[in-house]
Amino acid sequence: DPEAEQRILDGLNDKQREAVTTTEGPVMIIAGPGSGKTRALTHRIAYLLAAGKAQPRDILALTFTNKAANEMQERVEALVGDDARGMWVGTFHSSFARLLRMEGDKIGYSEDFSIYDTADSKRLIRQQMKGRNLDTDVVKPRSVQRMISSAKNEMIDPQEYAELARGDQQEIVAEVYPAYERALKQANALDFDDLLLKPIELFEQHEDVLEKYQTRWQYVHIDEYQDTNQAQYVLARKLSARHKNLCVVGDDAQSIYAFRGADITNILNFDNDYPDATTIRLERNYRSTENIIRLADSIIEENDDQIEKSLWTDNAEGEYVALMEALSEKDEAQKIERRVRDLHLRDGMEYGDFAVLYRTNAQSRAIEEALRKENVPYRVIGGTSFYERKEIKDVLAYLKLLVNPNDTASLQRVINYPTRGIGDKTQARLQRYAQQHSLSLWQAVERVEEIETLGTRAERAVGKFRRLIARYASKAGTGSVPADELARDLIQDAGLLSELRKEHTRENLQRWENVQELISALAEYVESTEDATISTFLQEVALMTDQDEAEEGDDKVTLMTLHAAKGTEFPVVFVAGLEEGLFPLEQATQEKAELEEERRLFYVGVTRAEERLYLSWARSRYRYGEQTSNTRSRFLEEVDSDVVRTEAGGELEQQTDRFSAEEGPSADYDEMDPHYYRQDLSGDGGATGSSDGLRRIESTDGGGGRRVVYDEGHGEIVPGAQVEHQKFGRGKVQSLEGEGDKATAVVFFGSDVGNKKLKLKYANLRVI
Ligand code: ATP
Ligand code: MG
Repeated sequence: DPEAEQRILDGLNDKQREAVTTTEGPVMIIAGPGSGKTRALTHRIAYLLAAGKAQPRDILALTFTNKAANEMQERVEALVGDDARGMWVGTFHSSFARLLRMEGDKIGYSEDFSIYDTADSKRLIRQQMKGRNLDTDVVKPRSVQRMISSAKNEMIDPQEYAELARGDQQEIVAEVYPAYERALKQANALDFDDLLLKPIELFEQHEDVLEKYQTRWQYVHIDEYQDTNQAQYVLARKLSARHKNLCVVGDDAQSIYAFRGADITNILNFDNDYPDATTIRLERNYRSTENIIRLADSIIEENDDQIEKSLWTDNAEGEYVALMEALSEKDEAQKIERRVRDLHLRDGMEYGDFAVLYRTNAQSRAIEEALRKENVPYRVIGGTSFYERKEIKDVLAYLKLLVNPNDTASLQRVINYPTRGIGDKTQARLQRYAQQHSLSLWQAVERVEEIETLGTRAERAVGKFRRLIARYASKAGTGSVPADELARDLIQDAGLLSELRKEHTRENLQRWENVQELISALAEYVESTEDATISTFLQEVALMTDQDEAEEGDDKVTLMTLHAAKGTEFPVVFVAGLEEGLFPLEQATQEKAELEEERRLFYVGVTRAEERLYLSWARSRYRYGEQTSNTRSRFLEEVDSDVVRTEAGGELEQQTDRFSAEEGPSADYDEMDPHYYRQDLSGDGGATGSSDGLRRIESTDGGGGRRVVYDEGHGEIVPGAQVEHQKFGRGKVQSLEGEGDKATAVVFFGSDVGNKKLKLKYANLRVI
């Protein structure tokens, strides 16, 4: 279709076009943020189809989130019409989970295997440790889980690990690792790492399976290649070995997942690994203003290890990058909230145009509070997600059991929840019996009559539970009842709903509603998906990434960690919490490599912004239940100060933010551009204060002198006066301004409230 072909190429610059039309052989597109890498990849796939070089089934594309995958699928369809179905576009994890469902039987996994998340894995590890009398207080199951996961990421198997293990902790891990692997296998379960490792095992043991997929996927694409780990590297290599058409896209300066096993050398060594590779660099940034790019450049310049890249833009210079200094995390949140509302009300920006990014999930709380107070709609991505809530995990565990009764972690979760007379002792006996006879826990449940250590009451309780699960499992197997209906009946029969209704607390009501919500999600899934089963639904849920939970379309401010922000873009971005110890994190400041990763994370954050960028920090913050006193992040000292201006805060509600006179203004005030300042304070003539920096502003105000005339009734209110306000309490007048009805005062009410600009006519200040 030459017309489609042309359309696809029209939306690209020359370099991108080269990337799209270089279809044969290994290709690496390496370029900075916002340069259209993802767009080039998407257009490349569309081009392959439109030019008749490939059929949809010949194409594999791997992305970082399911959301990105869906977008890619949709855009390709939009570019070529409807004939893009049949491609494999997904995350590494979901694509290889799918492959294992089809081929896993060859390495001993039935197609109904469960996928264990970190919590499930930890549960299994704890149990293995207990069974070996290893003290879980000395070495925590969580650390064992992490260490096993790292080993798996580096493709070190239990045997190799045992040979390499040094020191007590590693010796313990060496003992638990093989036991954990056996337990997973017995439960017909795979953890996240296995989803990448088992396909490799499969391909190595079964040449023919590898050949089948190597032959099928003529074109392999990977976005965000800088964050691939060892296993992902091997998979990409194996799958593209036949046709050699591997196209990877990435930016080494945006590599932020080393802590999870990502290996930056994958992208750095691409040229060596694929000697005949074509490298394409994109240099034009379409996303951000010039000022934002200048700031970003100045950040990444500080890092030593990186591929040389240049980035330019035709976009406008744009606003200065705003620096907001706050007294506390509450004050910071309020400043952000005011900025959001200000831009919303005055500049007509939609709430969906804003993103607030932070280093740690805990930071969202204060920001949420500030937004909620002013009824600003928002969504939080990641954190304790819906699917991690206890009540949701309980229901999911029941559903998992139906699909895979050997799933021990799920079985343990619900065997006595709600309470049904199968207590710890009974469970321990079942467990022992299972171990003695090399059975899964469920297989022991199935033979409950043969277990002599159990009393009749326990036996009866276990038998009843077994019948419940078996009945629903067989219903699920025949597919005679729609999945959502089946789930609804099951949680009713299992007593989950009445358990949640037992006590009429608000929490229980909320839980009950969450469970209903889950059923709705399942119903919607069944409705919208071909061949939907409980099993496919569970897989989708298990492999959700942080970003995937964001519902599209609604007009809300997005709150998320910097990590979750990768690949996204927003007109207005706030990067909050730029303090030493928080960003960069304390732990990361010791090693150069880790500090550079933090800096890349900062770089990723600021390059999400299209038009406006705000950087903020707070002098004090509650962390780990303690008030900490902070200094500004070293990152703020490093950035190009020519494009940064200290921000005076929102003008809504006649408030301004000033640092208290005692603390003095921040250094940035001295560099303040009067023009910028005037513009920023437009509307009410500018605030005044007692510092030099602020005086300068006054003089741009046409007023001339510092003495301001104001309504006689307020005569006692002078700079320095102690006053009391009904709502804000006691404060100190910082400055005065305006005449008559327009007279205002800036009053500092202590670090929690900060400075307020008040109209004297309404403020009812009392001099004390
Ligand atoms: P990141 O490194 O952050 O993932 P990226 O290099 O993948 O960024 P894209 O997300 O593909 O960049 O593109 C950034 C923005 O620029 C998008 O809004 C995209 O639509 C736009 N864009 C890219 N190329 C062009 C082009 N040739 N013409 C117009 N807009 C473009
Ligand atoms: Mg991208």
